This record gives sequence, structure tokens and C-alpha cells, in this order.
Amino acid sequence: MRRAVFFDRDGTLNVESGFEFRNLAWMPGAIEAVRKVNDAGWLAIVITNQSGIGRGLYGEADMHAFHARMQAELAAAGARIDGFYFCPFHPEAAVERYRAADHPDRKPNPGMILRALSEFGIDPAGSLLIGDQDRDIVAAERAGVRGVLYRGGDLSEIIARELA
Ligand SMILES: [Mg+2]
Repeated sequence: MRRAVFFDRDGTLNVESGFEFRNLAWMPGAIEAVRKVNDAGWLAIVITNQSGIGRGLYGEADMHAFHARMQAELAAAGARIDGFYFCPFHPEAAVERYRAADHPDRKPNPGMILRALSEFGIDPAGSLLIGDQDRDIVAAERAGVRGVLYRGGDLSEIIARELA
């Protein structure tokens, strides 16, 4: 079984601006953090709530384009994300098909993590999730994965400690 670092996206890998589909600004050490995960032979997987899609602020295509930009900038530094999991659902979504009172994928629910564990053959007990909100940690724990709360600072230093 593989090991993985699950990354929350907004506020952990990239600066949360509310317009992430347009502006990509990395958090300190984020690119290096992903590369360290790659170099350690662990999977690097993004687990992100994207209620902005449900709210009608941007579309799935905008988000995929943003992820492609992330991958291009990572590739330029010799790094990569192995998988992106996103949840567009929200209880008060403006777009009806994205309206769900308590969707199993929306963090703090663990649906995205559970799917990644299954699809990649990941050992939950040997993996970790890092995110900047309590709901990230709760989702991780519900999936049997250790959660690490990111309070800012150099992400690559934190990841290096966690991989050691
Ligand atoms: Mg976040």
C-alpha cells in the first residue's frame, strides 16, 4: 500500500483570495513541500471543498484550468500533484444540481479522502492530511488519517518534519 500526504488547497497550498480560479499565489514553501512528498515516494493528493462552484461564482472548467496552472508551475520546479479531489456541493448552493444538505464529500465529511484511499490503494494509518481549518482535521480523522493543522509558516519545513 502507498502512503500519501493529503493537502487541503485554499489557505494551505495557495493563498485564499476568493478568486482562486483567476489568481494563483502559493503559500510559503508550498511548491517545495509538494516536491518533498514526491521525492519521499509518497503520493501528493489535493482534497478541496469548492463551494464556489455550487454558489455559481465559477465553473468546474475554471477550477480545472486553475489546477492545470498549479501542475504547470509545480512541473517547472520538478514537482507534481498525483490527484485532485473536489467537492462542489453546498447546502445553500445557488446551482440546484450542487445543492446537498450534508454531502458525504464535503469536509468535514470524509468522502473525498475515502475515495482517494480506495482508488490509489493508500494506507490511511501511514498517511497524513494537512489543512488550515478544523473541518480538514475532522475529515481526516473520520477517514482514519492523521490530521495536521496548518497555522501558516513555511509549509516545506512542516512537511519535512512530518515525513521524517
Ligand atoms: Mg483551506
